Amino acid sequence: MSDKIKMTTPLVEMDGDEMTRVIWKLIKEILLEPYIELKTEYYDLGLENRDKTEDKVTVESALATKKYGVAVKCATITPNAERVKEYNLKEMWKSPNGTIRGILDGTVFRAPIVIKRIKPFIPAWKKPITIARHAYGDVYKDVEIIASGKGVAELTFTSESGEVIKETVHTFDSPGILLAMHNLDSSIASFARSCFNYALDTKQDIWFATKDTISKKYDHRFKDIFQEIFEQEYKIKFQKAGIEYFYTLIDDAVARVVRSEGGFIWACKNYDGDVMSDMVATVFGSLAMMTSVLVSPEGYYEYEAAHGTVQRHYYKHLKGEETSTNSMATIFAWTGALKKRGELDNLHSLVDFAEKLEKASIQTIEDGFMTKDLAALCNDADVVPLNTEGFIREIDKRLQVLLNS
Ligand code: NAP
Ligand code: MG
Repeated sequence: MSDKIKMTTPLVEMDGDEMTRVIWKLIKEILLEPYIELKTEYYDLGLENRDKTEDKVTVESALATKKYGVAVKCATITPNAERVKEYNLKEMWKSPNGTIRGILDGTVFRAPIVIKRIKPFIPAWKKPITIARHAYGDVYKDVEIIASGKGVAELTFTSESGEVIKETVHTFDSPGILLAMHNLDSSIASFARSCFNYALDTKQDIWFATKDTISKKYDHRFKDIFQEIFEQEYKIKFQKAGIEYFYTLIDDAVARVVRSEGGFIWACKNYDGDVMSDMVATVFGSLAMMTSVLVSPEGYYEYEAAHGTVQRHYYKHLKGEETSTNSMATIFAWTGALKKRGELDNLHSLVDFAEKLEKASIQTIEDGFMTKDLAALCNDADVVPLNTEGFIREIDKRLQVLLNS
């Protein structure tokens, strides 16, 4: 290798927890630092440091992402009661992803890394399907009531000037349940813009679906806002890029997605996105192969793996036992961020490096070298199951060949 690749703007680096923190260090040491003069602004989002800084470090890392535009994040623990005890925490700190998303106001795009050797459960799917999930409101911010028996349920909106709109939801004759939910035009518009920008960025068609035939005001609003923004701001750009925006009903979308060969973005309302991203991940084989990127409407990017900190593997690792944790999604978080940084800074060598690292990673698995989670998914006789570090070293061998060719 000749000189190391230089960077001009720092990447925001958000370190994390447990097994993914172990992998993070290995990726940097084996796959990145030998080849790049890595320039990062480092934020330690590991739970201990979040506790020490009263979670200020999470906020600072998000603000840094607004300053520089591109971040790469390691998986982090979202503390629950058990974790508060385990780490002797001052408080049950909020989900870092929630905090970062709140500050960047973004949409999360999740896409699988597709490998020929690993056949999806739906054979027609040849290309990745990217799920874009709206991350605000609906049933995730609902209000619920248990109706104890006979009575009237009403939905009321009182405007600031005192105007009242009232609808009867139901007149109960017997016990039942009630739910009210909301969303905001501004949030839906941000979601739409993030989706259209990402479609242009990745040159893929975008599909959007709701249940507007049944929900004539609520879901219809989503459809209208998407359509309006598309017509006014994106139609011409889409024509130039040769991509399409396609709206349909959610049940029709499900049928079409299953019959498709993939290769598009599927924008989903909050709940649909929660369910469908698990479905897509499962069909493509493994959670460990799902990439994730948060894109803000202003064009800030935060790349990460879709999976968590792989706690069970970490406890084995602490006991000195061998682990076989799949680093693909974390490697692709780094390559995604490096590529984006390279594009923004006009650093062709950085983009080229990131593409070669992706190629080397995929080639490693296609050659039969993989972690146990993937080995379990292919029946081929020539598969060589590797441990956590061994897999990364196999990738490095192929990376060196690509960089020297
Ligand atoms: P997880 O870390 O995603 O792991 C769940 C299971 O999936 C693992 O036990 C493992 O199965 C398999 N798996 C996931 N990633 C893998 C990989 N890279 N290689 C091999 N197998 C993999 O979810 P969790 O155990 O429910 O959560 C652990 C912690 O992660 C929690 O504290 C949670 O708060 C946090 N979390 C963070 C994020 C984030 O930062 N974005 C997202 C989700 C969860 P086997 O054990 O069967 O091998
Ligand atoms: Mg879910």
